[in-house]
Amino acid sequence: MPYEVTATRKRPQTFSALVGQEFVAATLTSSIAQGRIAHAYLFAGPRGVGKTSVARILAKALNCEKGLTATPCGTCASCAEISRGGSLDVIEIDGASNTSVNDVREIRDEVLFAPNAGRYKVYIIDEVHMLSNSAFNALLKTIEEPPPYIVFIFATTEVHKVPATIRSRCQQYNFRLISTSEIKEKLREASGELGVEAEERALIWIAKEATGSLRDAYTLLDQIVSFSAGAITLEKIRETLGVLGIDELNDFVRLLRSGETGKVLERMDAVLATGVSIEQFVADLAEYFRNLLFLKSGIAKDTLLGYAPEDFDSGVRDSLTAAQMEKAIELLLALYRNIRFSLNQRFELELVLARLAELDSMISPAEIRDALREIRGGILAAPGVSLASPSAGFAPASAGGAAAAGPAGAAASSPAASMDPGLAVKRLIETLRREKPSISSALEKCLSARLDDQDLLLTFGAKDRFAGELALKEKDSLSARASVMFGRSVRVKVAFQEARAESVKVDQRVELLRKVFRGEVVKGEGHGGEPV
Ligand SMILES: [Zn+2]
Repeated sequence: MPYEVTATRKRPQTFSALVGQEFVAATLTSSIAQGRIAHAYLFAGPRGVGKTSVARILAKALNCEKGLTATPCGTCASCAEISRGGSLDVIEIDGASNTSVNDVREIRDEVLFAPNAGRYKVYIIDEVHMLSNSAFNALLKTIEEPPPYIVFIFATTEVHKVPATIRSRCQQYNFRLISTSEIKEKLREASGELGVEAEERALIWIAKEATGSLRDAYTLLDQIVSFSAGAITLEKIRETLGVLGIDELNDFVRLLRSGETGKVLERMDAVLATGVSIEQFVADLAEYFRNLLFLKSGIAKDTLLGYAPEDFDSGVRDSLTAAQMEKAIELLLALYRNIRFSLNQRFELELVLARLAELDSMISPAEIRDALREIRGGILAAPGVSLASPSAGFAPASAGGAAAAGPAGAAASSPAASMDPGLAVKRLIETLRREKPSISSALEKCLSARLDDQDLLLTFGAKDRFAGELALKEKDSLSARASVMFGRSVRVKVAFQEARAESVKVDQRVELLRKVFRGEVVKGEGHGGEPV
């Protein structure tokens, strides 16, 4: 028996043998069973997912000698000829190499002749989007009023390039990418038939590499079988095809996490020396970080990861935040896009690896936001510092600051006494917003709140005298509410600041900012630079 490549040997011969296109198969089966045959079909979808196979099965279904059937026998003369590609009534045309109007005119003349032996004359035009405009126009005439025995089956990977005038006359079927697990199962079947042992993770690797195309998967399998000597292992694939294995990736990223840039670059050199291309290296690293991110989000399906979850170094995974993983993926994807146009691909890679080695000193926008929040909380809680913008409100004070604000000694006896006076005012603002909006907005003008034994002293700026007086008018109801919050009797009092205090306040804030930013923000700017 002559050698047949797996993709040809495994080409499905019936609708039920089709992989991953259940919807297409079911729809075609039922319309054939009901005898509803269209004059033109359009099969759209990525390459290698079964469009031409379905076209041939449909042709057999139409011309099988056992009669019009969704399950062609596959053995009669007609079926056999179609399988061989030798049927006079099934004409396969490659749209990519027959793009001219003359090619289509030939079809137009031919369709006038009735089928040779079968019931239908079937034209299968692959890559139909490659036809020229005039060719499409010529074709349109034919499919508008075809003789009853003519069926066109168009296949295309780029359906948007097929003119709407053609599309609207066709029954369109969309083929989808085949899932990694479906491909893996077919690969297992195929390697078994070839008498080859195959490791599960090797099959998953091939299936993932095929990115949804069963034909690509079979072609890759054939290639791998040819050098595998009876047993397919990931190790062997890795050695022969220059792919990084999970162990090398774990090692490499562990090294990256150690922050020793020199060692990272040495290891990179060693990896490239084994024949792994820079593109491959970058793609593998990007996928590794993407998988870590998946694991961090609780996704552990091995067909999505390409490896079993336990293959990944959990120490590496736990040492990174999700934001850092995202940053790493972003850097690597940008690198992959850039290396094609680079003066020196290696320089680009080295630069990005140096950055990845310093992931810890990179700060995400979310971290900057949190840091600013913390700083603001610190400023508001500092003794003697008043609230700045009314809209900013009383941010929850950070742990250290709150205790320092009030006379903690006197208040400590009651459990609620530890409540920050600022927070109490903020609650008052919120609870009164609906009931007494004017009081609520007056309280927003309050610059500082201080608890002095029984007195809750609210200080207003000199220019906010009106707001302060409004609060004073309501002092009884405010006192009652505040007492509930503090869990003891509290009297609300109102004071006004002198105008010149304003400048002192600003100074304190600037000083505090300076203090805080020296610690936090300078480090943030050390993006790839020296940490402080
Ligand atoms: Zn047949």
